[in-house]
This record gives sequence, C-alpha cells and structure tokens, in this order.
Amino acid sequence: MKKYLMPVIMLIVFEAVAITLWLTKDNLFYLFNFSYIGISISSGIFLFIRKYKHARRVVQLLVGLYMLVYLGLISQENMQIEGFWYYLFTGVFEAATIHYAVAKIFGPLIFGRGWCGYACWTAMVLDFLPYKTPKQPRRKIGWIRYVTFVVSLVFVAVLFLTHTADIERIMFWAFLIGNILYYAVGIILAFAFKDNRAFCKYICPITVFLKPMSYFSLIRVKCNKDKCINCGKCKKVCLMNVDVTDNSRKRLNGTECILCMECKKACPKDAL
Ligand code: SF4
Ligand code: SF4
Ligand code: SF4
Repeated sequence: MKKYLMPVIMLIVFEAVAITLWLTKDNLFYLFNFSYIGISISSGIFLFIRKYKHARRVVQLLVGLYMLVYLGLISQENMQIEGFWYYLFTGVFEAATIHYAVAKIFGPLIFGRGWCGYACWTAMVLDFLPYKTPKQPRRKIGWIRYVTFVVSLVFVAVLFLTHTADIERIMFWAFLIGNILYYAVGIILAFAFKDNRAFCKYICPITVFLKPMSYFSLIRVKCNKDKCINCGKCKKVCLMNVDVTDNSRKRLNGTECILCMECKKACPKDAL
C-alpha cells in the first residue's frame, strides 16, 4: 500500500486548497475546480504506479482540456500569463492569480514542474508531435523566455495605464489569439528543432516563475549512485535534456525536469 502514498498525498494537497478557497472565498466553484484537478492528477499517478503506458497523457487531456475549453473558452477566463497580470493589477485574488499561485508559484515548491508534465494545455498538444525525445543538444536561446515574459507584462500594463475600455473583453481575445500563437510557434519550433518541447525550453514565459520555484521542489527524481551503471538510457529518453544522474539542483538541469518519469521507466537498474 505504501506505493500508493503519492496519489493520496496529491489528493489531500488539492482537497486542502479546494476546501480552503471554497470557505474563504465563499465560492463553491473552487471546491469543484481543485477537486476535479486533484482527482485527475491522483488518478494519473495511480495509473502510472499500475504501469499504464498512457497515464500521463490521460491526465494531460483531463486537466488541459478542462482548462482550455471549460475555463478558457466557455467561462471566458484568461488563464494565461496576461490574465495573471490582469488580475494582479486589479488587485483581485481570483481565477488566474489563484491558478498561478497554486500551479506555478507556490505549488512548484512541492511538485516542481509537475504542471508542465501533467496539466499544461500547450504541452498537451505539443506532446502529440513526432519528436518525443530531442534529436539535438539544447540551444543557448533560453533568454527568449524573458522577452516574452516582459512583452506580456508590458501589454497588460499599457492597457491599464491608458485606461482602455472593456479590458475584460480584450483579455478573452488575448487568450484566444495568445493560444493560437503559442500552438503555431510551438509546432513550428518542434519541427524546426526536431524537439516537441522546444517551445517549453526557449519561449514559454511561465518558466520565469516555474524554474526558480521548482529549484526548491520537495518532489524530485533522484539517482541512486550505488545502483547506477552509467548506461545513459535515462538521458536518451528525457524530453527536457535533463541529466537525471546529476542530483544537484542546478538551474540549467534540475529546474528543467517535468516529472514525466520516462527516465524511471527506462532505467534497467531501478536507480531512479
Ligand atoms: S514550459 Fe510552458 S508551455 Fe511548456 S509545459 Fe510548462 S507551462 Fe506549458
Ligand atoms: S525523463 Fe526524467 S529527468 Fe527527464 S523530465 Fe522526465 S522525469 Fe525529469
Ligand atoms: S538509466 Fe539508470 S542505470 Fe542507466 S544511467 Fe540512468 S540512472 Fe544510471
């Protein structure tokens, strides 16, 4: 039973968030929202433990489609980084600010970049592309993420400073156009660099939050050096070019792991 501890912990963490927000914000939606996400993630981890091959993809689709279609398109909440800035500037702790606090700022202190492995609706599509493992070494163009980060901030700041009317409507269109752009750039880059996750590695502005916070992550894949035979299989299958045999938390390595567990599956010595 000990092996099922992780899905139970995840469920408890999400239920704690769901109940706290439901009671403090007096809004039943938070109970439904975080319970749904918690149950989806825990079920995925449970399926993974049961060695179901597509466990991660199931969670990606359950959470990613819910956020993109239900929250984004039907409820018209901009859950992208522009939505985060928007709610931050209005001083309201709602929707995108809560989402960012849980999934991308404080949550990574516990589950690292689990968001990127199991819930992101951009990666949900990119992971269907043919280059599941990078065919080339990592490029030194990660600075682009800071540019996209600043552009998103300036875009929303200008709307506020110029007192633009109906910013909420603009936020919805920003969500639609932003997503189309992300998918287009992500797909083009994946084919150009032969790497499904090129967008994540070089362009995504959210990594500006995710990387420093996941540096301190409680949940990590660690290598047992006594068992490891340096066969290199884990590095070969890693989507994110992580050298998982290096247990340090180095920014360029340790903060890239998305906890997909492909390395663990590939390890012949159960060293991970
Ligand atoms: S790096 Fe960005 S696009 Fe990639 S999975 Fe994470 S949040 Fe999604
Ligand atoms: S393959 Fe291993 S090291 Fe690479 S991202 Fe997945 S869990 Fe992390
Ligand atoms: S796959 Fe396992 S044994 Fe091989 S290098 Fe990685 S951790 Fe070591």
